[in-house]
Amino acid sequence: MWHGLCGTTWRKSLLRALRLRHSLEIDHPLRRQRPMSIREHRLPILQMTIIIACTAMSTGVKLEPIEFEPGALGKDEVELNVESCGICHSDLSMLDNDWGFTQYPFVGGHEVIGSISAIGDNVTNVKVGQRVGLGWHSAYCNTCKTCQAGDQNLCANAQPTIAGHHGGFAEQVRAQAIAVVVLPEGVNPASAGPLFCGGVTVFNPLVQFDIKPTDKVGVIGIGGLGHIALQFLNAWGCEVTAFTSSEHKRAEALTMGAHKVLDSRRGDELEAAAGHFDFIISTVNGKLDWNAYLSTLAPKGRLHFVGATLEPLDIGVFSLIGRQRSVSGSPVGSPGTIKQMLDFAALHKIEPVTEYFNFDQINEAIERLREGKAHYRIVLKRE
Ligand code: NAP
Ligand code: ZN
Repeated sequence: MWHGLCGTTWRKSLLRALRLRHSLEIDHPLRRQRPMSIREHRLPILQMTIIIACTAMSTGVKLEPIEFEPGALGKDEVELNVESCGICHSDLSMLDNDWGFTQYPFVGGHEVIGSISAIGDNVTNVKVGQRVGLGWHSAYCNTCKTCQAGDQNLCANAQPTIAGHHGGFAEQVRAQAIAVVVLPEGVNPASAGPLFCGGVTVFNPLVQFDIKPTDKVGVIGIGGLGHIALQFLNAWGCEVTAFTSSEHKRAEALTMGAHKVLDSRRGDELEAAAGHFDFIISTVNGKLDWNAYLSTLAPKGRLHFVGATLEPLDIGVFSLIGRQRSVSGSPVGSPGTIKQMLDFAALHKIEPVTEYFNFDQINEAIERLREGKAHYRIVLKRE
């Protein structure tokens, strides 16, 4: 079952690898109890698998290859042989337990591309051997009003791929079959992983808020999410402005779809753009002068957050009232929206800009992201 996930060095270190039982219980108050249907309705053992995953045993330590036994494959589940996996800033935040609900042993990775190696008895939407992607959610309850309306990404009992579940920094990963999406023709599998979290997170608001080709849209933060947002918005027909704090990204932002570039931290540049934007999407995870950004919105404009900034927003309400402006946030998209995004990306030849590391270089890759040096998304791949 060893597929050379982590190279010779890691192979040697497997001699001392621990065997861990896969824990699926979620005990943090921020997380709802996992739905019964996912865990309880399992078949008797179909096959016994040992999965080797790049694992953090606690916060602040290096990842190491650890074996775990996932147990029997659920009848609604699939197992993927992982081919590649993007590293999202959320993997880093989870690794560092920035959000307070990381469970250790922790296996990150939620921008997965892989081929289906096994399917449960009830699975009909995909077949063994098909190449699919898996994003932030690995299961949904599928029975609540929200799921039935097609908004599975908003399901209160959705299962995150990397919280209370082991993700794609591994040889194999499992998910409910409905949570994986087949790659269409025209999408490059080598760079498609980042579309499954970063991509859909910035595509989803265009659908949810009915963004028009005539809209003037700003993207704050040109990192993993932001650089894909520039490409989507340009193809959508919008006037696109990139807000960056990195001087060296200015020229490249223009090649990726921005019509203009502003400094995200310069008050004078924001002042000069007063009343201009219909929609601004923030992908940064730090604090900026949000009131200055509100002033750049046109009447009925929206400042929309997908970046997980931890500091509370300090927003003056009169700026919202007087011009009927809105502030909002959203997570990743539903499986339906992921499909829509993939088709859109294939049609318009939109592709994440990626740099590649082997799985055995995962610790170096994570440090590169931590230092803000990723160009623009790091993807782990097989040797
Ligand atoms: P990333 O690749 O690190 O990019 C973030 C970008 O934000 C940086 O490249 C930088 O762009 C800018 N930035 C970072 N710190 C800043 C600061 N202090 N001041 C100003 N600009 C700053 O991260 P990512 O993977 O795109 O993820 C971005 C955020 O989205 C993270 O918080 C992540 O957890 C979150 N996220 C949310 C969802 C969701 O479901 N809503 C999904 C995926 C990710 P410039 O160099 O251009 O300034
Ligand atoms: Zn992510």
